[in-house]
Amino acid sequence: MISKDIKQAVQILTSEGIIGLPTETVYGLAGNIYSEKAIADIYRIKQRPRFNPLIVHLKAASDLDTVATDIPQKARDLAAAFWPGPLTLVLKKQAHIPDWISSGKSTVAVRVPNHPVALSLLQQIDFPLAAPSANPFGSISPTTSVHVEDYFADQIPMVLDGGACQKGIESTIVGFEGNEPIVYRLGSVSLEEMEAVCGTIQVRNHNEEAPEAPGMLAKHYSPSTKLILSDNLPSSLEAHHGTRIGVLSFSKVFDAPSIIRLEVLSAKADLAEAASHLYAAMHRLDHADIDLIIAEKLPEVGLGKSINDRLKRAATQ
Ligand code: AMP
Ligand code: MG
Repeated sequence: MISKDIKQAVQILTSEGIIGLPTETVYGLAGNIYSEKAIADIYRIKQRPRFNPLIVHLKAASDLDTVATDIPQKARDLAAAFWPGPLTLVLKKQAHIPDWISSGKSTVAVRVPNHPVALSLLQQIDFPLAAPSANPFGSISPTTSVHVEDYFADQIPMVLDGGACQKGIESTIVGFEGNEPIVYRLGSVSLEEMEAVCGTIQVRNHNEEAPEAPGMLAKHYSPSTKLILSDNLPSSLEAHHGTRIGVLSFSKVFDAPSIIRLEVLSAKADLAEAASHLYAAMHRLDHADIDLIIAEKLPEVGLGKSINDRLKRAATQ
């Protein structure tokens, strides 16, 4: 059931249930981090492997020291610059943080979401929420309450409606080696924005490079329709003529007889707008009667890098 009733959401979460939760990045599947039952239900419903830990959502940056310890100065600087917001920090966890949310690791991933409904809800409960994206493992992330309802209507009592997600792609995940930040997942905060706060940052966003950030799988965010990533749309269209094609374009309109559906992410070529439209466009293409999605590679700057990361993983067979 899709609902705006925050009081009811509080009641479900307080009695160890789970709900669909709006955030500024994507919708989450949320439960009390201290409830073993709620967390087991999240993993089961998502069919997410237990080695892949969950992000802890706090109501305020001032709660950080209640979940993490030995916090590097650059982590504090990044939190001060971007919270509430789409930046997740991986830090040494406090001993009372349960292993069932950290997959047994000594670290915890944590952020403060920047969404009025999520913040209002967090202020009315006395525990943080674990909230991985509300999609079956590996599939396209949800950016509206209807996407969540389409995936999980029978399995969760409520999707708390907070409108379409403003950012539209997942949080950026940053861990630390000493005081030095390392990006494990590119996301809604760009590398350039973070580097303006704390200097050059390494990116290690593949599983082989960053076993300390499990879950960064090569194949992810995938539609059920085959998707290819193209540097040159006209020549890819030419190469696949005769196929029923859906096109995911950055800003331009393309026309060809084989194009059954066209999705333009941002007519004014704005990367933030493109990010906010990405997953809804992928959901629509996946429901269209086509055999192939051709996605155009975006400029490799700012949020373009984060979007291309998602498209590359969506294209991996
Ligand atoms: P999702 O909840 O689907 O946005 O994915 C969360 C991602 O955060 C996981 O895939 C992990 O890679 C990362 N993560 C969560 N907790 C930790 C942790 N303790 N250490 C490293 N990475 C983490
Ligand atoms: Mg996810």
